[in-house]
Amino acid sequence: MRRPLVAGNWKLNGSLASVKELLTGIKAGLGEVANAEVAVCPPYIYIPEAQAQLSDSSIAWGGQTLSAETAGAFTGEVAASMLRDFDCKYVLVGHSERRTLYGEDNTLVAKKFAVAREAGLIPILCVGETLEERQQGITEEVVGGQLGAVIDREGVAALADAVVAYEPVWAIGTGMTASPEQAQAVHAFIRAQVAQRDAAIADGLRILYGGSMKPGNAVELMAQNDIDGGLIGGAALKADDFLSICKAAN
Ligand code: PEP
Repeated sequence: MRRPLVAGNWKLNGSLASVKELLTGIKAGLGEVANAEVAVCPPYIYIPEAQAQLSDSSIAWGGQTLSAETAGAFTGEVAASMLRDFDCKYVLVGHSERRTLYGEDNTLVAKKFAVAREAGLIPILCVGETLEERQQGITEEVVGGQLGAVIDREGVAALADAVVAYEPVWAIGTGMTASPEQAQAVHAFIRAQVAQRDAAIADGLRILYGGSMKPGNAVELMAQNDIDGGLIGGAALKADDFLSICKAAN
């Protein structure tokens, strides 16, 4: 039985005051969520605040990205070991905004995935196709390539302590959610790709859906067989919305 995970990706949003308020709101309202795991990924600089507020709760926290390097002359970077210093459990790897805006390709994403695991972080590997790619009918090729780059580098066993997030790029921040059937089809494809190498790992792998998930569509999406939770952007910035999604996963 896979335990659902709902992770909030706060992106480049917030202030110290709003982060404190959001953390307080999520923590206070989470009472009824026992069967799902919940995590938040604030901007790096607010991670110590998350640690301070959440250490005595069941809510985990993590980074939105990490350096592919472990130390040295890499100005502006944050290493996996530094995230672990602040008790981060998770880190997003290969979010589509990192891929498109910061040129992270499959090779770099696979390296970041490896570095995260080596430091004891659980990577949440984000994969997903653009609208153009979907219209060209190459969704499986694209998603399969993104996942395959990690499996080729690290071996399928590395997925035993990782999470995959399917995030169609055309659904991220657009309000255009994939239908439950569209999402389920890609989730099933991802699980089958892993199952070809190792059925037990495929069976235990949590595959989150991300892309305009909100309280109004979360129940239907998470009712799909292969959807094991959500990676939430916009709706993670409002405690009430995020909590409703957590309850849907529960
Ligand atoms: C995301 O950025 O991971 C995401 C899913 O964003 P949104 O929920 O805003 O579409």
